[in-house]
Amino acid sequence: MIGILADIHANLEALEAVLAEAPPCERWICLGDLVGYGPNPNECCERVRKLDAVCLMGNHDAASIGRLDLDWFRDAARESIVWTREQLRSEHRRYLESFADRLTLDDLTLVHGSLVAPLVKYVSSELDAEAILDRMNTAICLIGHTHAAEYFARIGNSPCSRRHGMARGGAIALEVGTCYVVNCGSVGQPRDGNPQASYGVYDATRRELAIHRVAYPYRVTQDKVKRAGLPAWLGQRLAEGR
Ligand code: ZN
Repeated sequence: MIGILADIHANLEALEAVLAEAPPCERWICLGDLVGYGPNPNECCERVRKLDAVCLMGNHDAASIGRLDLDWFRDAARESIVWTREQLRSEHRRYLESFADRLTLDDLTLVHGSLVAPLVKYVSSELDAEAILDRMNTAICLIGHTHAAEYFARIGNSPCSRRHGMARGGAIALEVGTCYVVNCGSVGQPRDGNPQASYGVYDATRRELAIHRVAYPYRVTQDKVKRAGLPAWLGQRLAEGR
């Protein structure tokens, strides 16, 4: 089994809750935005590194190591990146520098945003998903970036359809002849109305991709956000899942 993490955003409480609940996985994937927004960038780097996870570069990771301009970000995001740059220890900066923009791992294509623009493009419509489906060489592409658990499926050559309703978790039975773009949601800053941390488990043998939600003590994270002097909204939104 493969454990799928995305958009952890330096939220250690959410990450620990996910890792405590997840079934044993032979391999872990982190689809970008390991840091940014949250108060524990170094601790989250350390924890994901310990998992020996296959890591993709997110826009916040890239900005935190100076690879993406701050002009791409507004307000609270920009403020948190400036803060993260100051906090990041050099070993973790080097770790983030090693992340790939896109990867193929067995039967999975991995990217933070979209194959059209790996770091910054949001997949928020069927059209956005089609652009990935047209470019991938595997049956499944795993993405992050929007912080919403959902997926898109294309059967044969027919237009792809969007499957909402994964915000409470659920399993996708992967059909032969169908291609998928799957967002397993965000570990550390869910934006699909459910404040619980979101992660995925891919079972290639059973041909199943499950999305799980797990409650975590977000008040602890909110407190850390406050004490770090990060924008208050970054704490508030954790309670609302948006
Ligand atoms: Zn993100």
